[in-house]
Amino acid sequence: MKLRIENMDVKNKTVIVRCDYNVPIYNGKILDDTKIVASLETIQYLIKNNCKIIILSHMGKVKTEEDKLYNTLEPVAKRLKELVGREVYFSREILDPELPKRIEIMLPGDLLMLENTRFLDIPNQLESRCDLQVSSFFASLADVFVMDAFASSHRNHASVVGIAKYIPSCIGFSVERELISIDKFLQNPEHPFSVIMGGGKIEDKLELISTLLPKCDYLLLAGGIANSFLKVLNFNIGASLATEKEKTLETLKQILLTYREKLMLPLDALVGSTYDEHYARYKKIDEIGDNEVIKDVGVRTLEKYKTAIKKSKTIFLNGTMGVYEDIRFSNGTKELLNILKNQNAITVVGGGDSVSAVKNLGFKDDFTYLSVGGGATLEYLTKGHLVGIDAIMDGEEIEILDV
Ligand code: ADP
Ligand code: MG
Repeated sequence: MKLRIENMDVKNKTVIVRCDYNVPIYNGKILDDTKIVASLETIQYLIKNNCKIIILSHMGKVKTEEDKLYNTLEPVAKRLKELVGREVYFSREILDPELPKRIEIMLPGDLLMLENTRFLDIPNQLESRCDLQVSSFFASLADVFVMDAFASSHRNHASVVGIAKYIPSCIGFSVERELISIDKFLQNPEHPFSVIMGGGKIEDKLELISTLLPKCDYLLLAGGIANSFLKVLNFNIGASLATEKEKTLETLKQILLTYREKLMLPLDALVGSTYDEHYARYKKIDEIGDNEVIKDVGVRTLEKYKTAIKKSKTIFLNGTMGVYEDIRFSNGTKELLNILKNQNAITVVGGGDSVSAVKNLGFKDDFTYLSVGGGATLEYLTKGHLVGIDAIMDGEEIEILDV
């Protein structure tokens, strides 16, 4: 395990924390402050230890000058101020040479948030290319670096990876929670272990599928992922989303041959059509017409998948069953979540869309663990390590206790 914040000497120190404050904002209003709330344990711990706290985070995608207008962290600083009940100072300038003086006069427990680190990407991608001068500037502001942005930990960025090269570093509470939960539930799962994999593009998930297949007992497929497998099996999937790449199709063929008895594919679907946006029909999987588009799984598929789920002690879900953003095609995802909710097993959901579907469809409190890491969670499961966590100092091994 990496060095935990509780094992780092932070008392009375100046601490720079990389948070994940990439929250959804519309017209300057924060739509969901879950990520800010998730950071409070670390922030409160540092306040309690009389630290001066400097906060870094990115927000959104910043490719043009105009993007800066919509991606300022200022509303986040305001919300954090409400949540901690203390002043949160804000610096619009990130690489401001005056910052050390400003920090000097801060009092213990004071907070200072710097503007969106991705603003440094214009014009020279200093953040995204992990410019070490930027990292060393950040490090020069503090005595200790705390990495608490799990969702960014797969990024080789200046505010993620570089700082730990210069000052003592440790992980914050929310990173620790993610690492422990993923290790406990998914690296050594209780069997039978079912993986449910839906979503859009097969290429995004192929490595993850290949990693999980030897470990799991069942792999239940849905969405665009299942379509590509159906295509290999010569089903007519009409105009549905599926890969065109020969190399991918060949890999899927090998997977089908090697893991035949673990794989489950849809028996039916709800389909739309290419020429009529109001079209929505139920079809068996061998009845799909040339102009039809698979948009969700049908009831028979869910009945079949339920048999594997019922036998499982651990279930991991990534990807949605269908195009859940369209209410007509969200039922498969909703019904699946309902089945999982009523299953007495360890249930873990990972992935950006998957976790937001769980929240939006009303199942927020019905799972053992909702991993907040998005792409970082999937990369950790696939590769077993993350560049932003690798950079942090090692701590003692800790024993993971059973639930
Ligand atoms: P996560 O972000 O949790 O890793 P994905 O992005 O892989 O999950 O899956 C969600 C996306 O998959 C949604 O945007 C959804 O519209 C899309 N999707 C699901 N089923 C289909 C389908 N049959 N055809 C096209 N897109 C699909
Ligand atoms: Mg997604």
